[in-house]
Amino acid sequence: MRSCTGCGLHSTRTNAVPGSGSSKAEILIIGEGPGFNEDQQGLPFVGRSGKLLDELLAAIPMSREDVFITNVVKCRPPDNRDPLPDEVAACRPYLERQMELLDPKVVVTLGRVSMLRFHPKGKISEDHGKILEWEGRILFPLYHPAAGLRNPAIKRELQKDVLKLPEALRQANRVSPKNIDDKIDGEITTKAPNSPVTQEDQKLPEEEQENNNRPSSQTAEASTADAQLSEPLLKNETTKEKGDRQLGMF
Ligand code: SF4
Repeated sequence: MRSCTGCGLHSTRTNAVPGSGSSKAEILIIGEGPGFNEDQQGLPFVGRSGKLLDELLAAIPMSREDVFITNVVKCRPPDNRDPLPDEVAACRPYLERQMELLDPKVVVTLGRVSMLRFHPKGKISEDHGKILEWEGRILFPLYHPAAGLRNPAIKRELQKDVLKLPEALRQANRVSPKNIDDKIDGEITTKAPNSPVTQEDQKLPEEEQENNNRPSSQTAEASTADAQLSEPLLKNETTKEKGDRQLGMF
């Protein structure tokens, strides 16, 4: 990813942001895209949103060492504009490969766009904090921390929702593909009751305007990224080390 030229975003990035965390994580947290600070440091969620994310994890209690954090697109679009559909499509194989390597039990999406990647007909105002099933895993959508920073009511929802993450992990141990028999549009099954929708929930344009707003494309396309994902082992490298390298562990 750090040397990828699979889409035009490579020409304006400072650093690609593959992700960080444990290669053994059972929880994969997916934001929407790098912001300014992430682009500068090459690490995900290092700004104020990252601080809030750390606080949310600490409440469970967990830390970044217990999860893996990445984004839908790995390079920052200029001026934080939405990435173009072809940019999202070009980057999609990286996220898919990360999921394949990590095989997480729980996928936590942060924000509307990240959620739509897995739940195309979802509404973040209705689905945040729900424990959902998606292709044999648990999907657990949350508001984006950046939205929480801008809206105290959304922050309270985030603080409440994240407390359900341990239960989501417990439910993940009971999920298997054979139990998913009523998928919605072949994507997802909702098992948990709805969370209450508040007026504050409806103020999502703020979230979309935050630094990580990224449109989702559901069209998987072959890209030059595919070729890089099938790169061979480096000299003296083990398969495990290759997996970690592809996850951005080093
Ligand atoms: S495909 Fe992804 S990693 Fe490659 S340049 Fe585009 S955004 Fe960056």
